[in-house]
Amino acid sequence: MTKQKHSSSSNTTQTDIPKNVRELMTYSVRPYWKKSALFFILTFLGVLCWNASTYTASQLINNLSVNQEVTDSAWVIVGFFAFFRIFDEVFWRIGEIVMRSYKPQLVERVRSMLFSATLKKPHTYFVNSSSGRIAHWINQTTNSVDAVINNTIWGAWGEILGLILSTIFLLTTHWSLALLFAVWLILLFWYNSRRGRRFSKLVAKQSDENSKASSIVVDSISNSTSVRVFNAREHEEHVLGRKQDDIIRTWRKSWKFGLITNAVKGQSSGVVNVLAISLAVWLFSKGTIEVGGLALFLAYFNSASSGLWNLAWNFDEYYRQFGTMQNALEGLSSEMERSVFDDYSADGIIPSSVGLKIEDLSFAYPEAKNDLVVEGLNFDIEPGQKVGIVGHSGAGKSTLIGLLLGFYEPTSGKIIVNGMNAVEKDPSFIRSISAYVPQDTSMFNRTIRDNIVYSRPTASDAEIVSALTKANAIEFVQKLPQGLDTLVGERGVKLSGGQRQRIAIARAILKDSPLLLLDEATSALDSVSEQAIQKALHELMKGRTAVVIAHRLSTLKHLDKIVVVEKGKIVESGTHDELIKRKNGVYADLWKRQKDGFIVE
Ligand code: ADP
Repeated sequence: MTKQKHSSSSNTTQTDIPKNVRELMTYSVRPYWKKSALFFILTFLGVLCWNASTYTASQLINNLSVNQEVTDSAWVIVGFFAFFRIFDEVFWRIGEIVMRSYKPQLVERVRSMLFSATLKKPHTYFVNSSSGRIAHWINQTTNSVDAVINNTIWGAWGEILGLILSTIFLLTTHWSLALLFAVWLILLFWYNSRRGRRFSKLVAKQSDENSKASSIVVDSISNSTSVRVFNAREHEEHVLGRKQDDIIRTWRKSWKFGLITNAVKGQSSGVVNVLAISLAVWLFSKGTIEVGGLALFLAYFNSASSGLWNLAWNFDEYYRQFGTMQNALEGLSSEMERSVFDDYSADGIIPSSVGLKIEDLSFAYPEAKNDLVVEGLNFDIEPGQKVGIVGHSGAGKSTLIGLLLGFYEPTSGKIIVNGMNAVEKDPSFIRSISAYVPQDTSMFNRTIRDNIVYSRPTASDAEIVSALTKANAIEFVQKLPQGLDTLVGERGVKLSGGQRQRIAIARAILKDSPLLLLDEATSALDSVSEQAIQKALHELMKGRTAVVIAHRLSTLKHLDKIVVVEKGKIVESGTHDELIKRKNGVYADLWKRQKDGFIVE
């Protein structure tokens, strides 16, 4: 058996999902902070130029009103105005080029990190969540990071700078006008942030309802055959409709909330505008400010008022995106306490043979901690031995395989592999030295080749063909329109159950692992497929240690040992010949009552 180096799957450094929006944004911006800083400097200069151009325009009015004719100094001011306006544009455009050179990478970095961290989650996370919700959370968070960056770049950043500069320039007219403006600014910020936090919570609830709707859509579509067979289209529409009612209710709540907030902001803006203009006219009548000052004030106050209003909208948008992201991060982070059982980092040499020792192994699912599904199991498997696990449905056979694969952490007991405690060593250890063939293999919607080489991406075509031949699959693959390059459809729907299983066997042959964990094919297969699969399995098991969940009792005859499980406990073990002779034996009874070779439930 060749020795292979098991590769690590991770290509990102971040392994945990950020707990809050701040951590997420810091993570996404960190590699691009220099470019971000450059962008902010350039746009700062742009905003500075824009405000300076408005200031020079007011100076021009002052100059003309004082001189009552166009002097050289007026032309100098026009020159300054032109300079500031042109450079305002130049700085913004260069800033845009800088920003566009890294923003897509920044946003996609978030998707990669969330995707990678999600794939590293424990098996139980996927058992307990819906793929629709997980996909929604990952996409939504990525979109929200994009939206927050757009909002910052095209909205808030320019507005904030503009407002600060406006306040400073307003000081040049009269301190009381600048003070009035500054007080309004502070009050509005205070009000906005108070309301914003509550708004964020409402949006988080709304986003949660949206993710549930996504989950319903994905669930219905992935079960479209059942929907059709049971004529249940209307029922499914009704299920989604009910969820949509919840979404509409939460939308209404946040709309009402936003409406009140905007009314307060809008009314205060009107009142402050009237106050400010009255104050400016009064100052003018007293001769405290000049016409140019009045013009400057009007220009700034108007643009600052609309800037402030825009900024308030920007903030609403932040709170909306923060609420959405927070909801998604909470959903994605749940069950994030990384049990040792979700670590894919096994990097080791594959041994040429494997012996297993199961010692006092017990397990209960987290939902029912007092209900042991596997209880005090003890048995040995010598290197090269093939052991069958038999029992009625629900006896705990699949759970045992799940424990061997490190999907779950045993409640107690040991799984010893070649003298090493696999539970303590590395949860992915057994996965790295074994090949698992489940009863029904769900495939990726990619080509046959992609699905086969999943276990060994470097395999050559000759190796693929050889594996397919041993798996009794070459004939049907060659008949497919594009052979190895045929797309198999979602979850492999374009292939029959038997064909999918043979592809899974070819994949396991290609992996060339010393340990096999097999969940045998069931009655879903016709006898021709069944025979082809048995031959393929026989080929696969040659020279390897194997643990086989057997449903067809006749296949157990050839195995070295049979372990009979009932309610999570071993009730008998021995060879087929030994067990069949036992009086009142469970296996002997199963054998007698079997129907068409299968265990009768
Ligand atoms: P078998 O493979 O022998 O048919 P399983 O190992 O699938 O049996 O199931 C054993 C018991 O564990 C059953 O009672 C089943 O309902 C329960 N069970 C299986 N999977 C889960 C799960 N993810 N969460 C909770 N209980 C489970």
